[in-house]
Amino acid sequence: MTDSPGADVGLLRRSLGVFAYSRRALELVWTTSRSLTLALAVLTVLAGVLPAAIAYVGKLIVDGVVAAINATDPDTRGVFLLILFEAGIVIALAACQRGISASQSLLRALLGQRVNVMILEKALTLQLTHFEDSEFYDKLTQARREASSRPLSLVNRTFGLAQNALSLTSYAILLFAFSPWAVLILIIAGLPSFFAEAKFSGDRFRLFRWRSPDTRMQMYLESVIAREDGVKEVKLFQLGPRLLKRYQDIFHKLFKEDRKLTLQRDGWGFVLGLISTTAFYGAYAWIVFATINREITLGAMTMYLVLFRQGQSAVTAILSAVSGMYEDNLYISNLYEYLEQPVISRSGAAQQGPDPGRGLELDHVSFTYPGSDTKALDDVSLQIRPGESLAVVGENGSGKTTLIKLITRLYEPSSGHVLLDGLDLSEWNIETLRQRVGVIFQDFGRYQFTVGENIGAGDVRHMDKPERWADAAVSGMAAPFINELPGGYETQLGRWFKDGRELSGGQWQKIALSRAFMRSDADILVLDEPTASMDAGSEAAVFEHFRQMSKNKMTILISHRFSTVRAADQIVVIHNGKIRERGNHQSLMADDGHYAHLFKLQARGYQ
Ligand code: ADP
Repeated sequence: MTDSPGADVGLLRRSLGVFAYSRRALELVWTTSRSLTLALAVLTVLAGVLPAAIAYVGKLIVDGVVAAINATDPDTRGVFLLILFEAGIVIALAACQRGISASQSLLRALLGQRVNVMILEKALTLQLTHFEDSEFYDKLTQARREASSRPLSLVNRTFGLAQNALSLTSYAILLFAFSPWAVLILIIAGLPSFFAEAKFSGDRFRLFRWRSPDTRMQMYLESVIAREDGVKEVKLFQLGPRLLKRYQDIFHKLFKEDRKLTLQRDGWGFVLGLISTTAFYGAYAWIVFATINREITLGAMTMYLVLFRQGQSAVTAILSAVSGMYEDNLYISNLYEYLEQPVISRSGAAQQGPDPGRGLELDHVSFTYPGSDTKALDDVSLQIRPGESLAVVGENGSGKTTLIKLITRLYEPSSGHVLLDGLDLSEWNIETLRQRVGVIFQDFGRYQFTVGENIGAGDVRHMDKPERWADAAVSGMAAPFINELPGGYETQLGRWFKDGRELSGGQWQKIALSRAFMRSDADILVLDEPTASMDAGSEAAVFEHFRQMSKNKMTILISHRFSTVRAADQIVVIHNGKIRERGNHQSLMADDGHYAHLFKLQARGYQ
């Protein structure tokens, strides 16, 4: 948040435009369940008018009782019928209120699910860069935390508003007979609280937005302290108390702000509430005075007192509904801001390129990460033809993984082009493109699913086909240990779910490799450090499978092990985002440059 004038104007515009989301929230609720929304509307109207009817019947009863006391031959039957009638209306009102709360509960569940699905569906359309952008990530977390309950809350409040407005109108009609001034006092007395409420809702929302990075840090700390993958280091490095302290410090900081706002809100609420109490007792005295003066009957007095008291709570309810709606609107605007985040996808429709023989080409490709001022890749050009293999060598941070993200179109180049079969990647149909590429990253997914699903995930079309899992597992060298697992391919992996088995790093890597082998149709295979955690025997076997499988394919391999790198048709050495050397093993050794130096260094290590 900034304090510049521009931001203030923006804020003002936001605040004014904010009720715009009421219609969308209503639409959302309506399309989620028409029958429930309709039920809610009808019940709300009934619940709105019944209280005034109760008050009116109450008047008739008191007047009946007074008449009966004064009469010589009292007609008590009429009074008891009225009591029966009032009881009937009260029961009807209770039924309406139950109905309202049941419809609300059901709608809440349906709507929560719907909004969550909308949020997740949107997440599927986003690009990797979005998730790496902390500001955007905030929007996502905020949307997930609050937005699923807010649309219903907004609609509930709108209906609540209607209900109370109806009640108030019916009270006002009855009260008008006593005095129009009484109606005016009733309404004006509630206004100060309303303005206070509206102000504090806005403040609370701004606080919520502004503290989002803090809450995110808290969630993160929770996951480090209390989740399986963090626990080892937390224990051994004795990080626990330190992290817990950080967690508590954040709470105390947030709590301080919360306390301030809560105290302000309730303090003002009390003071301004005094105004309405004073108004109520003023009116009370007035009504009693009028009764003593015999201007109104005893029955009318009871009715007016009830009307005034209930009218006052209706006014308060209306005003707090309005300020609550304002608050809900702010949160929903957050949801829509996320949902409407433009996704710039320049994905084309091409299913094939003009010249398949050209394979994969990088043409003067540069890439800079958003927010960074150095190029992660700088003017990189290279070509891999079908049947050829490329190995990329370079120190950590030199740009190897970035290169792969560009080739797999997780990122788009800042300048230059990546072409497949002679066609720019942005012109390819994204589905077609994805099907042609099989990839495993260094930080491959370790899904808390069964072994079979973990492998099958490599090709969603065959995710449920055990015979395909088995083939892929043989190529990925995972079959031997899977067959020894108690449940075979049905074994649950990971520790999150019951009976889950944890695997060793090398075993996980074999699962990930098998996953890549699931994509037997893919003709571009990308392996980013695929065998780093494997024993030497498995690694040799994996590469043998790999070579057999990749006869007509293009393969790209990142590895620090020169024993695997040396077999590639083409080797590039990347340094600070630039290609420093290129050639095959023989030519690079003959050049006696950086590659030769690193190769000899590693070879010496093995002697
Ligand atoms: P390598 O795979 O060769 O170890 P990377 O391609 O991952 O290296 O990283 C290249 C450079 O880009 C590094 O300087 C790294 O700090 C930076 N970098 C990597 N990922 C990101 C990212 N998501 N956002 C910003 N900078 C990044």
